[in-house]
Formats: sequence, structure tokens, C-alpha cells
Amino acid sequence: MILVYVDSDELSAQAVGFARTLGDLHAVTFAGPYQPTAWAKALAAQDADAIVAAGSDRGNELLAHVGAILDQPFAANVIAIDGDMVTRVRWGGSLLEEARLHGAPKLLTVAPHTQPAAEIGDVETLDAPDDGSPKVLERVEESSGGVSLRDAKVVVSGGRGVGSAEGFAIIEELAGLLGAAVGCSRVVTSAGWRPHADQVGQTGTKISADLYVACGISGATQHIAGAKGAKKILAINTDPEAPIFASADYAVIGDLHEVVPAISAELKRVRG
Ligand SMILES: Cc1cc2nc3c(=O)[nH]c(=O)nc-3n(C[C@H](O)[C@H](O)[C@H](O)COP(=O)(O)OP(=O)(O)OC[C@H]3O[C@@H](n4cnc5c(N)ncnc54)[C@H](O)[C@@H]3O)c2cc1C
Repeated sequence: MILVYVDSDELSAQAVGFARTLGDLHAVTFAGPYQPTAWAKALAAQDADAIVAAGSDRGNELLAHVGAILDQPFAANVIAIDGDMVTRVRWGGSLLEEARLHGAPKLLTVAPHTQPAAEIGDVETLDAPDDGSPKVLERVEESSGGVSLRDAKVVVSGGRGVGSAEGFAIIEELAGLLGAAVGCSRVVTSAGWRPHADQVGQTGTKISADLYVACGISGATQHIAGAKGAKKILAINTDPEAPIFASADYAVIGDLHEVVPAISAELKRVRG
């Protein structure tokens, strides 16, 4: 039996799609506050050939705990499995690794946005007795605007070129006009100009927007790892040699402090 942990998100539906290809599937979830160790104990106690979850923060955390409890290896962000061989995404998507996954049950998470979503069907709510371990009592969304970065159709993002926290006023204005979420690079979060929740990249959020507007961002591999899910990328940069242009569909070589307000002004003009 293939046990799959599901949440109420799109990634769980993708994990179910993948898990169905492995055998008879039993979908489970939990009620009550998220308590990683207690939930992992409940998963580990099931008699399963494989335990699968989405490669989300939660799915990876839970399966890592299950691996520790059962003393079994765990493969994160898998895109294919053939017997003991798994192919998984490493380094934010820049590398595919083939590895042999020993152990029973097999423990794996499914790389986000690599599988079609499937109907989740029946879901059993497992008991996870409180074992006194830490639990999440409240979750506060640290976001600069009303639109979530992960789900936004348009993301307007700023990098070091924005220059300061105050400099983001023009990024926020354009985002507001486009109904977009505001994103940023790691330099920006490291400088404290924006919260980590806004960071796009390997160690931030991986977006899947229709349009990504990258302003004053050089296009480091770790940043592109989070931006490449966008269908179209518009890059605004003063440096014609900036690596971001290799990933961009549209390029504006210019100072974002002039270009971004000009786009906003034009949007306002055409909308009357
Ligand atoms: C393990 C690891 C994980 C990482 N994870 C992430 C991650 O998740 N996300 C992330 O973003 N980075 C991540 N990084 C950092 C990454 O390597 C880069 O350092 C970072 O993305 C660079 O940010 P930036 O493009 O804003 O700054 P820079 O690389 O300094 O680029 C600034 C750009 O702005 C342009 N510019 C300057 N002034 C203007 C102007 N007035 N108008 C227009 N353009 C201008 C410049 O030409 C330049 O191209 C990670 C690094 C490591 C080692």
C-alpha cells in the first residue's frame, strides 16, 4: 500500500497523481495543530510499502521526521521512480540526480510542479496523539500585500539595484497597478529591505506566475531557480551583460528608477 500524506493544496494533488502510479493508494491527513514529530510517528506506524508527500516545506519536514523515526533513507523532490532508482531535483532545479533508494518503506516527496494534479479522492484523518513535542499554534502570513507570491499571476520583483527599502515604493506602485505580488532577491532580504517571505529563489519562494518583472536583479542561478517557473520574464537592468537577460523574454536596458515609474505612468494614462 502506498500511503500519501495530503494537505489542502495543489501540490498534494500532484503528489497523489505521482503516488497512484506506484500502486494502491491510501490518502491520509491530520486534524488539529501541526505537530511534526507526532504526525510523523503516526505516519511511521502505518503498514506501508511507501510513504509519499508533496515536496513542500511541510511534506519534506514530515518525511524527514519519518525517516529519522524508522531509521530509513528519504529522497526529497523526486520526479521519477523505477524500482529502487529515483530521479530527483537538486540545487533548486539546476541538477537532476539519479540515486538508489534503499529501505522499506520507501520514503519520498514529489518535486512541486513536475506532475499533473489528480483527484485526491477519499482521505482518512489519522490520529496523532500529542506527544509533548513542539507544535504550530498560529501561522502568521508575512506578506507585503494581498497577493500571495506563490500563487500570483504577476510578480514584480526588485533586487540590489532598487537601492533601499524606500526604493521599493515604485515596485509596490507598479505591483498594485498590475494586481501583482511583490518579490525580491536575497540581497534585498539580507539587507532587511523586505521580509524573507518576499524572496524569490532557491532558498525563497518558487513562483509560477504568467509574468515575472525583475528589476535590478542580476539573475544569479539561485534566483533563477525560483523565477524560472514564470511563463514570461521581463528584465529591467542597466547592465546589458547581466545574466538575467539570458532567461528573459523581454529586456529593458535602463535605470529601473526611470523605467518602472514610466511603466506605471503609462498604465495610469491608458486606464484613464
Ligand atoms: C546557497 C545559496 C542560496 C541562495 N538563494 C537565493 C535565493 O533564494 N534568491 C536569491 O535571489 N538569491 C539567492 N542567493 C544569492 C544569489 O547568489 C545572488 O547573490 C543574489 O540573487 C543577487 O541579488 P541581486 O540580483 O539583487 O544583486 P546583484 O547580483 O548585486 O545584482 C544587482 C543588479 O542590479 C543591476 N542594477 C543596479 N542598479 C540598477 C538600476 N538603477 N536599474 C536597473 N538595474 C540596476 C545591476 O546591473 C545588477 O545586475 C543564494 C546564494 C547561495 C549561495
